[in-house]
Amino acid sequence: MNAGDRVFVAGHRGLVGSAIVRRLEAEGLRDVLVRTRDELDLTDRGAVLDFFLAERPAHVFLAAARVGGILANDTYPADFIRENLAIELSVIDAAHRAGLEKLLFLGSSCIYPRLAPQPIPETALLTGPLEPTNEAYAIAKIAGIELCRAYNRQHGTRFITAMPTNLYGPGDNFDLERAHVLPALLRRFHEARAGGDPVVTVWGTGTPRREFLHVDDLADACVFLMRNHEGSDIVNVGTGTDVTIAGLAALIRDVVGYEGEVRFDPSRPDGTPRKLLDVGRLRAMGWSARIGLREGVESTYRWFLEHASAAARS
Ligand code: GDP
Repeated sequence: MNAGDRVFVAGHRGLVGSAIVRRLEAEGLRDVLVRTRDELDLTDRGAVLDFFLAERPAHVFLAAARVGGILANDTYPADFIRENLAIELSVIDAAHRAGLEKLLFLGSSCIYPRLAPQPIPETALLTGPLEPTNEAYAIAKIAGIELCRAYNRQHGTRFITAMPTNLYGPGDNFDLERAHVLPALLRRFHEARAGGDPVVTVWGTGTPRREFLHVDDLADACVFLMRNHEGSDIVNVGTGTDVTIAGLAALIRDVVGYEGEVRFDPSRPDGTPRKLLDVGRLRAMGWSARIGLREGVESTYRWFLEHASAAARS
């Protein structure tokens, strides 16, 4: 992937896609293609193939997906499986038919078995039952990985897969019902401080452990993998450390400057008890995450204050 190569980032308005576009532009790539949903419906196989044949990008980052937090996944499983399967099928198949050079697909740490060994090695995929709250999403993402592998095997394509852990950063979804835990808590603590609320409620027991990767680190890893990784072996992308949800809540409380009480609501689901990725494969290739959790939460909070807090109130 060189400065003059044409690169298509599918899903450029999302958390991951927007970070990949920033990263590519910072690298001096001059021909980064993007399309909004109105311009190109990624679930429409014919439209995607026509687009690839007309524009002929050399590289594709497939960062378009329907994603959401534990409640959204649990409430809209049909939307999660249908949209993700449709996007994967149309983009991956069209990439093959149009003869594109290389594609990077994004899996997720939440598609490993619920009780996978910790830290989770790439070899744990498909070795046990999934976490029920996001099973529909997981099966769609597993199908995407298998599409890449099957096309590689049958057609000799170069479709690779990165497996990011829980992500956060600028451009995240701060909607309280649909968001993942980190942006949801940033917003909840921020609003509680602004409104003088004496208590903030955190879902679940506070004991599950999660690993959080800043999306700029993920974008860096995706570009690194596009350049340095070949073949059908999936590659975990994470920091190698995790925190409890209670620990995360304490950190966010501190960053936001909230002085009230934190309470847990065990009637809300905890989800999977732990999902820390084994990042040995990527480290051995020479890549490690750089942005620490406190630093990343602080900069994301600044982004929220500048971009999202006004929108969140209205
Ligand atoms: P998960 O990693 O797929 O389980 O997705 P989430 O990021 O949505 O949730 C992670 C953990 O944070 C779960 O144990 C949730 O119960 C817990 N959690 C605590 N408060 C919140 C909240 O306000 N929103 C979300 N989404 N999760 C929360």
